[in-house]
Amino acid sequence: MRYLIIGLLLLTTCCWSQDADQQQIDKIFAKALNEGKSYQWLDYLSNRIGGRLSGSVQAEQAVKYTKAQMDSLGFDRVWLQPVMVPKWVRGTPEFAYIESKPGITNNVPITALGGSVPTPAGGIKANVVEVHQMEELEKLGRDGIAGKIVFFNRPMKADLINTFEAYSGAVEQRYKGAMEAAKYGAVGVIVRSLTLRQDNLPHTGYMTYGDLPEYQRIPAAAISTNGAELLSTTLKLNPAIRFYFKQNCKMLGEVESYNVIGEISGETHPDEILVVGGHLDSWDLGDGAHDDGAGCVQSMEALRLLQATNYKPQRTIRVVLFMSEEIGIWGGKKYAEVAKAKNEEHIFALESDAGAFTPRGFSFDCSQANLERVLNWKPFFQPYLIHSFIAGGSGADIGPLKDDSIVLAGLRPDSQRYFDHHHAENDTFEHINRRELELGAAAMSSLLYLFDKYGIVPNTKG
Ligand SMILES: [Zn+2]
Repeated sequence: MRYLIIGLLLLTTCCWSQDADQQQIDKIFAKALNEGKSYQWLDYLSNRIGGRLSGSVQAEQAVKYTKAQMDSLGFDRVWLQPVMVPKWVRGTPEFAYIESKPGITNNVPITALGGSVPTPAGGIKANVVEVHQMEELEKLGRDGIAGKIVFFNRPMKADLINTFEAYSGAVEQRYKGAMEAAKYGAVGVIVRSLTLRQDNLPHTGYMTYGDLPEYQRIPAAAISTNGAELLSTTLKLNPAIRFYFKQNCKMLGEVESYNVIGEISGETHPDEILVVGGHLDSWDLGDGAHDDGAGCVQSMEALRLLQATNYKPQRTIRVVLFMSEEIGIWGGKKYAEVAKAKNEEHIFALESDAGAFTPRGFSFDCSQANLERVLNWKPFFQPYLIHSFIAGGSGADIGPLKDDSIVLAGLRPDSQRYFDHHHAENDTFEHINRRELELGAAAMSSLLYLFDKYGIVPNTKG
């Protein structure tokens, strides 16, 4: 009897209706590549609306546009979920130069970090101290830092194949560099742009002051990698050089915005919810095509492809376009808070927020039992070369949904070019390849299909 039960269990866990599933997945890919909608949606978001800073007019235009598109797709329900978001504005273009001797200057490209305070109206000019590790601040102490600009110049590591790992290893300089340097009396912070490319584009991104009182907050900006090399070399020749920068960005407080949500109800298990999403806000330097307009249109397309292939979901599948990820994941936190308050049962969430480059596979943040099962699905994706299935992170917006039972996943495109564009003025629509975008959407739709059809392995520990 025991062997019979084990045998039956094996049958149900490892033998998918393989032919039918492969056929459905092939249909999804064919639809995406032959008559996909994601590229034209992204064209509108990028070229007609443009950069979508949280709280900006463009962000609201993007809310209206994507809601209207979802309305036209005939989902069962489309709605806006209110969320308060921070509104930070960049102001007039930033300006900076290295002054090697009084009157002898070299302009360098900088951009204010998101959330930074402005410089005084006339700018800041001060001596510079270069550091690579946070711990160096403590060693330098007040004597070495007070009255100076701290220049964080640790490059992303070039020998990591997953460039997101290299980013993680360097991003603390941008995120908390100003907060830490201010504690030692620094007057400003300049951070090497987080990219592996050597060029003239500064890359912005979010930073925090933590609990620092307002009077202690110092302005922070990113400098292009070429600018960082120039500054570092000049400093080595003459440590007495001075750096000047001026920016008039400011935080204006909170305004109301929205997560945009659409869903198709499940036929047999409507209470079990699957989410697919990306974030609708972006930085303002480019048009936010890769980060994360692509993830938004791929998510809408993932749901549309299920409809277009006449698939009737058993569970409820929801697309969520999250607001204000870049400035602190406000939309993602709100969505999880409302889901919890309503006692909704989320079993699976998938995010695309790693650019629209050639999709390679997915990373999964889930129990071992679910991971083992999902690895059995790899062959369905092999014909499309999207079968790198690994354990790992998912996405910032769906992170707040994490609990003991949910399966979280992230689309993993090739990451080699992502940080060439990330948060910089060249994150634009012309750097999107239509087929790569569509393949990502099809892969996401296929994964949703499998999780909808088979559900997840329940957590037996609880
Ligand atoms: Zn993003």
